[in-house]
Amino acid sequence: MCPNGKGSANLSAKPGDKATDVWPSYLALAASGELHRRAEAAWERLRACDLCPRRCGVDRLSGQVGFCRAGAQARVASHNTHRWEEPPISGSRGSGTIFFSYCTGRCLFCQNYPISQLGVGEDVTNERLAQMMLTLQRWGCHNINLVTPTHYVPQFLAALEMAAARGLRIPIVYNTSGYERVETLRLLDGVVDIYLPDAKYADDAIARRLSGFVDYVAHNRAALLEMARQVGVTLQRDAEGIAVRGMVIRHLVLPNGLAGTEEVLRWIAENLSTSAYISLMSQYFPAYRAVGDPELGRSITFDEYDEALDALERLGFENGWRQEIDDME
Ligand code: SF4
Repeated sequence: MCPNGKGSANLSAKPGDKATDVWPSYLALAASGELHRRAEAAWERLRACDLCPRRCGVDRLSGQVGFCRAGAQARVASHNTHRWEEPPISGSRGSGTIFFSYCTGRCLFCQNYPISQLGVGEDVTNERLAQMMLTLQRWGCHNINLVTPTHYVPQFLAALEMAAARGLRIPIVYNTSGYERVETLRLLDGVVDIYLPDAKYADDAIARRLSGFVDYVAHNRAALLEMARQVGVTLQRDAEGIAVRGMVIRHLVLPNGLAGTEEVLRWIAENLSTSAYISLMSQYFPAYRAVGDPELGRSITFDEYDEALDALERLGFENGWRQEIDDME
């Protein structure tokens, strides 16, 4: 049983001109009671945690922790207005990020390792998490951007129910490494309007060595298909260009071809669509354990990023963003 009380059905969900009759879509689930049922179902999963592909089976409600080290309460490093996401996510007023502590991965090069690996942050109740969402809305953010939320889906759902009952009306962005279980994503069907997943690797051995992910490729691809099923493969925007529904797939180009960029893009082209929005990132720099690493210990070169852009073009992708690189070798 989730600690959230039965949610109020007294929501003033109003019809919108977006992809669904009610927008953000979680308002319809809240009004019908389905959001409460999802929150309860998710909470039960904490008793033998199987939220991510690792399926540790630990009882997080009794104080056990699994691979990710997350406990019964969500742990949050910060909540803030973020202006440097992709333009339709940040818009003119910023995206309301909630940075969750810990991670289901162990990227050697993680730029946020104090948060993801060392657990910097504070434990928060579901009530506090709901307050954070409402605060971000009050600050004018276009959306609630859950950064690395996989291991806290139950806490998020419980908090969302509270926040929706108190007037939350901005959409949810689910910003993830892409290492997801489809069973967990199904709990988010009709809850999340915008998915922001990574497609990090095309090779399981590399994914395991650099990020500690087991069977990343199959899980990532199944997750991308499920996200596309839920919200569509492209990105719908309002009159001001702000994302209202859909997905953006991020791919970080790594040095020495380690991210398998062309293969990742080819799979997306062949199995999702060349209309998918791709955010092709050049911002890699050696952080954390990548410093001094023979393969990872440098930024990418101009030629490496150029090759990635060539692949994007050759495969026929029509939508998305590229980054400048100034610090080329
Ligand atoms: S969310 Fe954490 S505890 Fe649960 S299965 Fe994944 S790594 Fe294990």
